[in-house]
Amino acid sequence: MTSSTRRPLVAGNWKMNGDKSLVEKIESQLNQAKLSNMDWVICPPAPYLGLFSSSTKLGVQNVSQFDSGAHTGEVSVSMLKEFGCGYAIIGHSERREDNFESDEIVAQKVAKVLEAKLTPILCVGEPESVREAGTLFDYIAAQLNAVLDLVGISAFANLVLAYEPIWAIGTGKTASPEQAQEVHAFIREHLAKQDSNVAVGIVILYGGSVKGSNAKELFSQADVDGGLIGGASLNPEDFLSICLAANQ
Ligand code: PEP
Repeated sequence: MTSSTRRPLVAGNWKMNGDKSLVEKIESQLNQAKLSNMDWVICPPAPYLGLFSSSTKLGVQNVSQFDSGAHTGEVSVSMLKEFGCGYAIIGHSERREDNFESDEIVAQKVAKVLEAKLTPILCVGEPESVREAGTLFDYIAAQLNAVLDLVGISAFANLVLAYEPIWAIGTGKTASPEQAQEVHAFIREHLAKQDSNVAVGIVILYGGSVKGSNAKELFSQADVDGGLIGGASLNPEDFLSICLAANQ
């Protein structure tokens, strides 16, 4: 990354993994390290949120688009705030697929998170078939536009984006640094059409099989400002090495 205004961020998405002992292991590993040039966030399954110390930045993997009421199984933004949660991953491809979250529902969730003054980590990314068909940029633009249409470009000053090509998630098939950079630059240009300051300032993470061994090269790309990490966030040493790569 090159812009001095963008602070690197690494967010760990535990998905439906981890246990109480991992909370302690991650915190002791990361707190020993000097990570003064970046921020790290853990997004554990919701039941573990209350087990972290207050110094750890926390996020969730999903939130309801509703305030309260008869929505069995859902968790509201106000509940998350009570547990000191500052971030919410919205629109992860697994939720889009497993829970049929459309671009419109994703946009509603982003709006709800922003309204509560939490930071959404909005995920966008294409399936392999879209990349092969050559419609990658249209696909990403449509995902962004659904949110832009609802919340407006100025709200993007308060959110984080994550580009996660679906074919790279949990597959070990990382996008090359050039492939990641190409899409990140496209996203920034797309936002710049509406507001160049917002486009320059927004943090855009890359997600998809990031490991200690490839993080440095990915994060050295001009428009890659850190990572959204799945599998490697479950191993404290691997997660630390990714955070160290972002800290440089
Ligand atoms: C993710 O689930 O957001 C992710 C990027 O997973 P992984 O790092 O395991 O590919």
